[in-house]
Amino acid sequence: MTDIVRTRFAPSPTGFMHIGNLRTGLYAFLFARKHGGKFILRIEDTDQERKVEGAVEMIYRTLQKAGMSYDEGPDKDGGYGPYVQTMRMDIYKQYAEKLVELGGAYYCFCDKERLERLGDENGVHTYDKHCRNLPKEEVERRLAAGEPYVIRQKVPEGVVSEYEDMVFGKISVDSADIEDGVLLKSDGLPTYNFANVIDDHLMGITHVIRGTEYLSSTPKYNLIYDAFGWERPKYMHLPPIMKDATRKLSKRYGDANFEDFIAKGYPAEAIVNYIALLGWCPKDNREKMSMQELIEAFDTDGISKSASIFDEAKMRWMSGEYLKAMSEEEFFEASREWIERAIEGKEFDVKELASLMHTRVDILSEIPEKLKFLNEFGVYDLNMYVHQKMKVDVEVAKKAVKVAICALDGLDDWTADAIKQRVTDFAAEAGMKAGQVMFCMRIAITGAQVTPGGAIEMAVVLGKRECMRRLTFSSELLEK
Ligand code: GLU
Repeated sequence: MTDIVRTRFAPSPTGFMHIGNLRTGLYAFLFARKHGGKFILRIEDTDQERKVEGAVEMIYRTLQKAGMSYDEGPDKDGGYGPYVQTMRMDIYKQYAEKLVELGGAYYCFCDKERLERLGDENGVHTYDKHCRNLPKEEVERRLAAGEPYVIRQKVPEGVVSEYEDMVFGKISVDSADIEDGVLLKSDGLPTYNFANVIDDHLMGITHVIRGTEYLSSTPKYNLIYDAFGWERPKYMHLPPIMKDATRKLSKRYGDANFEDFIAKGYPAEAIVNYIALLGWCPKDNREKMSMQELIEAFDTDGISKSASIFDEAKMRWMSGEYLKAMSEEEFFEASREWIERAIEGKEFDVKELASLMHTRVDILSEIPEKLKFLNEFGVYDLNMYVHQKMKVDVEVAKKAVKVAICALDGLDDWTADAIKQRVTDFAAEAGMKAGQVMFCMRIAITGAQVTPGGAIEMAVVLGKRECMRRLTFSSELLEK
């Protein structure tokens, strides 16, 4: 085994990448980076029936977006390849045969009918070791005759297989409870149980980081390492991420897909930051952390043994923190597409709109709704103008909108400061409070009760022409 830390992420291309899968990969990435080691991507595609078209490309895209660069992988050779399981078939066969020679596995010729007969009323069977001690000559004869076979693990009898998990502590399983399971299937494909051991060993993986679903099978895998005389890796099993108190996130049911969140306008960094904290907590309980800070702070002690619940509202909050922390320019770049889509080709100032939206959304997909007022304007309910505290009613509104028209009509310098000054001056002259005019003006130019900013901001983003057109429309509406 190498003395440098080597971890791997081993997704199966059987669908999209849910947050739980990605979190497993993230911890493997953080652990490797923290220890100055290598992070390896391996594609576990032996389950050809569940393979989904395009899923491998999605894995590459996701890792790239998430900022989890790998040192070795299918498209980045590091001398331990190939990194795609279906390209390693010869290797599995060769090592399965070798394991037979070493006494850690055996050929089994039992057919389907026989295995079915072993089943209980639920069809579940435990292999009865029927072929475990076939004479060597018989095995050779049957192989030579081309009989179909599988290779099974020869689990040593009367031992307790133990290991120390870095999260869960000591895990031990009595070998009497371990079946002589299939390692190499009759079609020559390895089972996960075999492939994970061969690959992790040959790829020099020092720390296996994966979900708790493998916690109790690991003693079985360790027996394979032992039979080969290989050093076992260290293990870190991670508790699941749940969608609620009883259900795990699942890619089969379309839960919490990374790319869906990206499409909804969550910054990738915010998703990564949020999922890093799902099952791990830094010593100082910090929340907003960059990738570099995560790498520095990541430690096994902070990993929780219990499941965590995915909370989209919390992730949304995190996203808002990331958007707010962006510079004007960064936010403009990030939001541009959303804004352009929202204004449907109309001539509004995208930069201006970006600065309006900057502190007002938690995720970018909120933008179109917030900018609806730019496209939708028409007859609206005049009761919106009624505001007791402001002492505004429809009569006051009529006057206020006229004041706004007079104030802004002759104004060329269409900036927030100039607009504010003019409206304030004209309000005073008309014996009104500036606040009353602003309140009415905002409704008059948006036709909406709730807007993403005050009257002045709305006027600036609408531009003078559109603003005057709307004020005139509203004035007429009020006079009707
Ligand atoms: N391909 C397995 C999965 O997606 C990986 C398990 C492992 O990391 O060993 O669950």
